[in-house]
Amino acid sequence: MSFSTLGLHADLLSVLDTLGYQMPTPIQLTAIPEVLAGHDVMAGAQTGTGKTAAFALPLIQRHLMRETSEKAIRVLVLTPTRELAQQVHQSFVKYSQGLGLNAVVAYGGASINPQIDALNAGCDVLVATPGRLLELAMKQLIDLSTVETLVLDEADRMLDMGFIIDIERILKRLPETRQTLFFSATFNDEVFALSKTILNQPKLIEVAERNATAAKVEQRFYEVDNKRKAGLIAYLIGSKNWQQVLIFTRTKQAVDDLVKELEKDGISAAGVHGDKSQGARDRGLEEFKMGQVRALVATDVAARGLDIQQLQYVINFELPYNAEDYIHRIGRTGRAGQEGLAVSLVSAKEKYLLEDIEKLTGEHFVLQWMEGFEPNMMAQEEQASPKRKPSKKALRAKALGQGGASKPKSGKPRRR
Ligand code: AMP
Repeated sequence: MSFSTLGLHADLLSVLDTLGYQMPTPIQLTAIPEVLAGHDVMAGAQTGTGKTAAFALPLIQRHLMRETSEKAIRVLVLTPTRELAQQVHQSFVKYSQGLGLNAVVAYGGASINPQIDALNAGCDVLVATPGRLLELAMKQLIDLSTVETLVLDEADRMLDMGFIIDIERILKRLPETRQTLFFSATFNDEVFALSKTILNQPKLIEVAERNATAAKVEQRFYEVDNKRKAGLIAYLIGSKNWQQVLIFTRTKQAVDDLVKELEKDGISAAGVHGDKSQGARDRGLEEFKMGQVRALVATDVAARGLDIQQLQYVINFELPYNAEDYIHRIGRTGRAGQEGLAVSLVSAKEKYLLEDIEKLTGEHFVLQWMEGFEPNMMAQEEQASPKRKPSKKALRAKALGQGGASKPKSGKPRRR
């Protein structure tokens, strides 16, 4: 099925042609007609499915069909992070090139004045993070009474990040009669509760099974001791000659440490996390996109809005505490139908997190050992029960200096 069958305007079709988009993705196929028809939509779709175009294209179309050229904020897109706000804004700019639509982006952590100037120059579509939007609204710098469509992007992440009060405050400032488009990668009770309060007879769209991991992504799990993880990553990237690898850690400190370790091993790397300035984060991302650095190391929050096309490799340096983050992380690879590989490094202490991921995804994963990076089982036993006497087998292995790299054989999959 092509874009022309979805009822899109000829000008939009020609932009899509220029961009080389030949076929709509599944979410675009289902959502575009519903949004064009003015329905509320509740969509389960993660980043990488083409969801931004699924709402941006029909909303740009409505702009084209509007008789008045008067500028007013008709579309408000709320995103949890500034990176995602930038990415969605860029998408609107990209999809509406030459079509007379003004899209403005506003997020915290950056000077407000250029954002105010951009708003004053005329705004049709405002993409914003909740905090900065409220700041602008409370200072009476924006009028939200003209909003016709509200888009909540990555609603689950918005709730995770504690934005519920901000969202409620924003909703009070919007017209009650409006179209609302609700996108979330995962659904839990809290997400459903929010959707119920803001959607009006929504069309439900689910392109992948709820809470399912991205299709076409091969998932590999290596059991490895914490202190050997950086070495294993350097080995994987170097020996397999991987280019453009996105690596997730749980903490900002781990981002900085891993960047240093990789650099020591001759792998060029950049780090992005919340304590870095916006300029530094943008620079890191740009270098990564341009291929000037091979590895981008990021925390979950910082990585949230990164738009990197056709990313082939994602590595989880540590498993996330929140199993839903795993789905978001690996959603960065295999984007828009490309194949991808997601490698997770799992230490003994993280096995319970793997179980959480299995419960959420309904999949069973097999832990493997990588030759030369086998976990030290004896240390694990001691850690798990320090007072227990080591087994005869372990003592024998110690005496022989085998350090636990025993059965199963390296590299062979091992059932837990
Ligand atoms: P998103 O899920 O919105 O973050 O989009 C993921 C990536 O897919 C973006 O880089 C888009 O530019 C790209 N994309 C979106 N729709 C299509 C399409 N129909 N054909 C090819 N690429 C697309």
